[in-house]
Amino acid sequence: MAYMEQIDSPLLPETLAVAGAFDFAAFTAADVYGALGREQLRPVDLAALLSPAALPLLEYVAERAQAATVKHFGAAVTLFTPLYIANYCENECVYCGFNCRNKIRRGRLNETELADEMENIASTGLKEILLLTGEARRQADLDYIGRAVAMARNYFTVGLEIYPLNTDEYAYLHKMGADFVSVFQETYDPEIYATAHRRGPKRVYAYRFHAQERALRAGMRGVAVGALLGLGDHRRDALTAAVHAALLQKHYPGAEISFSVPRLRPYARDTLTDKAGLNDPRGFRLGAGVGERELLQVMLAFRLFMPFAGITVSSRERAGFRDHVLGLCATKVSAGVKVGVGGRTLAEKGDGQFEIADSRGVGAMRAAIRTRGLQPVFKDHVYV
Ligand code: SF4
Repeated sequence: MAYMEQIDSPLLPETLAVAGAFDFAAFTAADVYGALGREQLRPVDLAALLSPAALPLLEYVAERAQAATVKHFGAAVTLFTPLYIANYCENECVYCGFNCRNKIRRGRLNETELADEMENIASTGLKEILLLTGEARRQADLDYIGRAVAMARNYFTVGLEIYPLNTDEYAYLHKMGADFVSVFQETYDPEIYATAHRRGPKRVYAYRFHAQERALRAGMRGVAVGALLGLGDHRRDALTAAVHAALLQKHYPGAEISFSVPRLRPYARDTLTDKAGLNDPRGFRLGAGVGERELLQVMLAFRLFMPFAGITVSSRERAGFRDHVLGLCATKVSAGVKVGVGGRTLAEKGDGQFEIADSRGVGAMRAAIRTRGLQPVFKDHVYV
């Protein structure tokens, strides 16, 4: 599309070439032990840890991962919450409640509502927020997002999970007060990507892939990388996401790179399980092949491959699982989550994106972190 900036970057071919080089079925227990014995893991070691051969050895992998987490993060677990400011979207992503074909309530928060929601969040003690929108450049335009960021920076460190932008647009939002950008490729498999994203600007795979680089070139402090596990082959997607993250770190050594590990979730008008198969052209099934054990395997492998990278565990996962991975490999957790537009101080103005599995508020999450002997952290950096 004409407005989409193209940047000069070797990352896409490099990422796909490295991540496509391994056959997960070929790895053995010896390869997994070999990977665990290395100080610094190579992509082949990461592939071994993601392979079926590593599943029976997960306890050993977890021991190493926990040691790495303690070494790099101590007992700290950072808390944040998402704030959906708008849910308009022009894309038809088959797995998402905001899919433009879904007849849901759409809305965006006005300035009074933004202020009320932010005050409410700030009153819980949180100091980090993630502002989210769907992809609709008219209804959630850059000016609107910029104003929301400027309001949020009065209370919080501000991260963004919005549609991909050009470098100058990221620079504008950075100037307004945002310093972190999350963009998930959903799946790195170009064929499945094309099938899962049936309409809209998101169909342009390369523009999405290069979003983190544009954000970093625009001055953002950090970026998050991830795949929606269950859309494609979760092992290949996890490997590719990690290689993508490692190459970003190599090319932008001062950047804070982190991972998210979302799994597919149902949503209110769930066309993934629609009997008519309306939006289910490839038979996508929720979390297909990605149980909690497989998800844990991915998180542990990420921890060992990039020991210093933050890993966020989503409220898509149940409380017991989230508690288990804190301190083991996860370093960041959301609390008091609402996935509709508003919903804290006003009735939701727009329907939610997906179902959450852990609805604990900030107090309960803080207590859960302490129960595990860990330290809840509300702010992990200051600007000087
Ligand atoms: S995943 Fe994002 S881009 Fe796709 S429909 Fe949902 S909100 Fe829109």
